Amino acid sequence: MFGAGGSALGLVSAWSQRAAGASAKTNQFPRGAAIRTLLKDLPPSALANGATLFHEHLSIDLPPTRPGRGTPPPPATADVDLMIREVATAGQEGVVCIVDGGHPDMGRNLDNLRRIAMNTSVHIVAGTGYYMQRTYPADLASKSEDQIADELAREVNRDGLGAFGEIGQSANGAELTPDERKVFRAVGKAHLRTNLPIFTHNAYGTGPDVPREAGLRQLDVLESVGVKPQHVAIGHTCCLDDPKAEIIREIAKRGAFVGFDRVTGGFVPDDKKVTMVLAFLDAGYADKLLLCSDFTGRRTTARPGYGNTLTVFVPKLRQAGVPEATLHAITVDNPRRLLAFVPKKARPKNA
Ligand SMILES: [Zn+2]
Ligand SMILES: [Zn+2]
Repeated sequence: MFGAGGSALGLVSAWSQRAAGASAKTNQFPRGAAIRTLLKDLPPSALANGATLFHEHLSIDLPPTRPGRGTPPPPATADVDLMIREVATAGQEGVVCIVDGGHPDMGRNLDNLRRIAMNTSVHIVAGTGYYMQRTYPADLASKSEDQIADELAREVNRDGLGAFGEIGQSANGAELTPDERKVFRAVGKAHLRTNLPIFTHNAYGTGPDVPREAGLRQLDVLESVGVKPQHVAIGHTCCLDDPKAEIIREIAKRGAFVGFDRVTGGFVPDDKKVTMVLAFLDAGYADKLLLCSDFTGRRTTARPGYGNTLTVFVPKLRQAGVPEATLHAITVDNPRRLLAFVPKKARPKNA
């Protein structure tokens, strides 16, 4: 894994120093910063004792990809009692917080998420937004950017939501559709009105038309309305076969987080993901990497539950020589830094 002639020890110690630097930065949250879980706002220090998974699905029911192909079997997440057991298991495996990356156009049920949050010790953060062209409600096309932004900001304040995401683009899309671009700009504006973080969905791995730079183009659109990259995680980058980490280094260089959010699944095998992570860490970006699995509750041998980032993927990084301090910074500190924000409005008492 380490270049010929390069000292593994040297690299490891450089990574540790960077991780220590990342941790030190992490512990300096802005005054008044909070992480908005469904049940209450928490100081970032409340999530210092375990991993936060910034993009999973605890309540999802997507329409079929191709109309006329029939409805897919109901997702495991429809069984809330099962989800409560699954999330509790993840808690035992070291997970303290899970962000649900769904929203109404993905069939997310907020009451189900609240039940899971109330019946486990794991904190749940709920996202909002719009997924991609095929899931958009019919009236979205006639709404303006500002109208969408206003509605999203109101929803955030009404329901105690903690992030915008996942917002994305169509499978095998060469670029955002005009409506998808409008949603990205509207979410950017809703961020400016609320300070909530944003995480995206990329179409990497879904077809030959998806450009390698797609994640950078998403960041361009968000920045075009004034979003600062440190409040953004560009998602599904681990589905891009990028062994030298060229694209993700560019994303991180601009200040955004890099979402390795389909570990143990997705379109690129884990061993290639490990290679990418090592190249990324070697370039000095340990403070920009986020790990999770975009899991929807269907267990397989490779994906044994919501804790699989910690039980399956992190051991592969450890095996490849990534030091413990770096792993801690990546799984515990980086997601807190993405999620922490200074609320513009006090949380309403009933939200
Ligand atoms: Zn996605
Ligand atoms: Zn997702």
